[in-house]
Amino acid sequence: MSRFRKFEKKIRHYLNRLSEIRFKEKLRNYVGRVGILSFFDEVELVDPHPKKLILPCNIGILFCGNFKKKEIHENIVQQLENVYDSFFFNVIDLGNFKFSKKMESKGIKREKYRSKRNHTEKIPLHPTNKFYQVLIDKRIEHKLDMIMAITNLPIYSSEENLIFLFGETHLEHKCCVVSSLLLKEQFYNEKKNEKLFQLRLEKEAVHEIGHILLGRNHCQNDACVMRKSTTVEEIDFKSIHLCPECMDKLEILRNRYNF
Ligand SMILES: [Zn+2]
Ligand SMILES: [Zn+2]
Repeated sequence: MSRFRKFEKKIRHYLNRLSEIRFKEKLRNYVGRVGILSFFDEVELVDPHPKKLILPCNIGILFCGNFKKKEIHENIVQQLENVYDSFFFNVIDLGNFKFSKKMESKGIKREKYRSKRNHTEKIPLHPTNKFYQVLIDKRIEHKLDMIMAITNLPIYSSEENLIFLFGETHLEHKCCVVSSLLLKEQFYNEKKNEKLFQLRLEKEAVHEIGHILLGRNHCQNDACVMRKSTTVEEIDFKSIHLCPECMDKLEILRNRYNF
């Protein structure tokens, strides 16, 4: 018991100083040494330079996995321009990112994908906070206002009890992650359809960026890109555009920031 108290005391000491990067590193090393690695996944995200939303702004896209990166980036830039018009100065391609060997396995949950198409094997899912921390660091490094990761890894929410997400946004840290695995027809044992896959990815990217701009709530209008989707069919059903109500909310932002 006293040994445990000693660990706890030291961890509290580091936790209270997490706003400094070096204490985050110290904590990471310490929990690794003590052998309570899973503890670290519960730790709050560290954002030494929190961003206030000021518009228009610069946004970066980071890729994690094998993608037709150039094509996808160009298409997303095009769609962000179509939907959000003058909200972004630049959409910067930040290239590829890979988790270190140590980070790769951290926080993994193995779950079956339950759907009518019956997947039986367990799939390793990654917590969204793993992506958020990388995104926060990159956002600061590249002096960006908001940032998005596109990954082929399946994800689960670190915030809510949700698994196999298409994407998630962290409003406070101005970052979001979109996972592509479930957007692929092959995942459902259907024939590969690159065009459909890319359109789904673009819709989900526009949707998550929409959360950073418009907030947490989903739109109830059927065809609006801000409608919540829990299946690919729902993604296919909605359009890539904002409904008039959501457009009005953008207008309010435009007026507030005077552009
Ligand atoms: Zn959403
Ligand atoms: Zn809407």
